[in-house]
Amino acid sequence: MPNNEDTFLALDIGGTNVKSGLIGRGGEIITFESFPTSEGGGVETLIALIVRKLTELWNGAGKGRKPKALAIGAPGWIRRREGVVVMAPNLAGWKDLPITRIMSEALDIPALLENDANLYALGEWLQGAGKGCDNQITLTLGTGVGGGLILEGRLWEGSFTSAAEVGHIPLGNVDRICGCGRKGCLESVASASGMAALAREWIAEGRGTLYGGDPKDLDTLAMLDLAGRGDPMSLAVFRQAGEAIGYMLAGVFNLLSLEAAVIGGGGSGAFDYMAPGILDILSRHIVTASMNQIRVVKGALEDKAPIIGAAALLTSEGF
Ligand SMILES: [Zn+2]
Repeated sequence: MPNNEDTFLALDIGGTNVKSGLIGRGGEIITFESFPTSEGGGVETLIALIVRKLTELWNGAGKGRKPKALAIGAPGWIRRREGVVVMAPNLAGWKDLPITRIMSEALDIPALLENDANLYALGEWLQGAGKGCDNQITLTLGTGVGGGLILEGRLWEGSFTSAAEVGHIPLGNVDRICGCGRKGCLESVASASGMAALAREWIAEGRGTLYGGDPKDLDTLAMLDLAGRGDPMSLAVFRQAGEAIGYMLAGVFNLLSLEAAVIGGGGSGAFDYMAPGILDILSRHIVTASMNQIRVVKGALEDKAPIIGAAALLTSEGF
């Protein structure tokens, strides 16, 4: 089968959905597909399904010409250089899984593994809201708060390839216990699930809200709707989340002299409600630039960001 030097495959394996795409070298999406992770069943059947879907991508839109390489985004704890998913709390059964070897053998093309938030950040930098800013951070607000740091136009991995774990940056004024067991982590108040938990606490304290449903059904989508109707609970929670992000960003901007922060992920639907809190705190604490020199913006690519980011990763690795 002839190879196609101009296309890549991209895969983003999430706890809820698996996204895949055939893309050009500049991140142009040729085809994009998403299916529920649960459709795959167990680990082996999920991998078999992914292999079949990726093969269909290049047999269809790729006209049977094999892409040059595959980039895989995965959540949780990974060893990117070895291509192993060590543990992914949201992917049942994914433990010490050599995913790049498995995919590379099944598809007969080279494969690389990357943290999903890093791929997301690369996508927003290449084509999205952070385009043109070579020193920037992207946050993804989901079950946790992921982060990806771009410095001088390259992904910054750090000594242990685990940089930008912004969700676990501790904030002295946060009093909640994080999913990681530590106290004060940013994501305990600023992730989509952290914001819903804050709202449930508000209800448990008997404070006023327009929400009349079961507290356990609350999510940021419902809160977004409520905020639009002036709900004091949702507005206060978004403000609190925004301020927490503002404190974290002030530290990171002051450390690295960044020019942009991109806020993506499902929770970023509430960006307009969080932005005043973010900007208020950041403007009071930033010393490395004036506010009109920097940008704090909502992500533009949503679930396509990691797929587009795959092109930046693969080209930077010489493919
Ligand atoms: Zn934590």
